[in-house]
Amino acid sequence: MNSINLAVIAGDGIGPEVTSVAVAALEKALGSVELDITSYDLGSDRFLATGEALTESDLQSLSQHDAILLGAIGDPRVPSGVLERGLLLKLRFAFDHHINLRPSRLFPGAVSPLRDASGIDFVVVREGTEGPYVGNGGALRIGTDQEIANEVSVNTAFGVRRAVEFAFNLASTRDRKHVTLVHKTNVLVHAGKIWLRVVEEVAAKYPDVTHDYLHIDAATIHMVNSPQRFDVIVTDNLFGDIITDLAAAICGGIGLAASANLNPTGAFPSMFEPVHGSAPDIAGKNLADPTAAILSAALLAKSLGYLEAAERIENAVEHDLANRGETKRSTDQIAQSILELI
Ligand code: ATP
Ligand code: MG
Repeated sequence: MNSINLAVIAGDGIGPEVTSVAVAALEKALGSVELDITSYDLGSDRFLATGEALTESDLQSLSQHDAILLGAIGDPRVPSGVLERGLLLKLRFAFDHHINLRPSRLFPGAVSPLRDASGIDFVVVREGTEGPYVGNGGALRIGTDQEIANEVSVNTAFGVRRAVEFAFNLASTRDRKHVTLVHKTNVLVHAGKIWLRVVEEVAAKYPDVTHDYLHIDAATIHMVNSPQRFDVIVTDNLFGDIITDLAAAICGGIGLAASANLNPTGAFPSMFEPVHGSAPDIAGKNLADPTAAILSAALLAKSLGYLEAAERIENAVEHDLANRGETKRSTDQIAQSILELI
């Protein structure tokens, strides 16, 4: 492949500011590889104008691309949950993004709130299409004191297995070759049994990879007290959502955290996005840190096999962070520095 057919959803708030920098970084790092970009105006403006968050024809058109780069979606004018379910989750389920990957490495120069943060370098593999996020639920007697709401967590051996296999395979390529399953198997016993069993089955196929288990509550303590113990964490959709925000916080904050929503089969394009949201409080003020979006573009390059381009971007970010110091810089200043380094 010497060209990439890229769909860009810049989205809301700071989305367009950080995405344009990420695209520029990708373009520069790819050198002679051509970037063929289609921009999509998905997000709150379109939703407010048309009442539709994501149509079948959007999905059809997006599916024709090699990958999707997303800025951020969310706007105070749109009720909470509407765009999350109607756009982000819809995309994730339609394209079967069953692996949510979040590298959590503390770059030298990045500031962690932890006293002993040196050497943090782990990856969270969050299952992306099951658990309590499937929309299997409902409510009775809504608005009364007798209201009952169900949000059923769906866990299948198939879904758990592909996440666990991805995690062990990833661990086998890393130095420490260790997988930690994070769950709450003592309380969520039915789902827990699947996860525990599948981890043992998959582990048997990876004799070089060690593994252990932590309850989610204990895992949060370890993540604050000794995050260096983690190499690859595999966990379900909800626990993964929570623990990856904690992981971002200890690795220098939300401005640096990148993520990938992967469909490793290649049947549909994978989607890459910063962990942060649309940050309406700082939108349009040249204050957003574009680093998370830039690192998401590096993940994109890596997943399409452009390893050198990915490395170029990561090295540039690493150099920039090492020299960043305490002074707060604007979006433009960070962008300029990283682009020059690339
Ligand atoms: P979402 O529900 O979409 O995740 P959110 O309300 O949880 O959104 P964000 O939009 O991520 O949160 O913003 C949380 C805080 O972090 C805000 O104060 C925002 O200004 C800040 N923030 C988010 N992204 C960045 C960034 N790239 N650079 C600097 N600050 C950021
Ligand atoms: Mg958030």
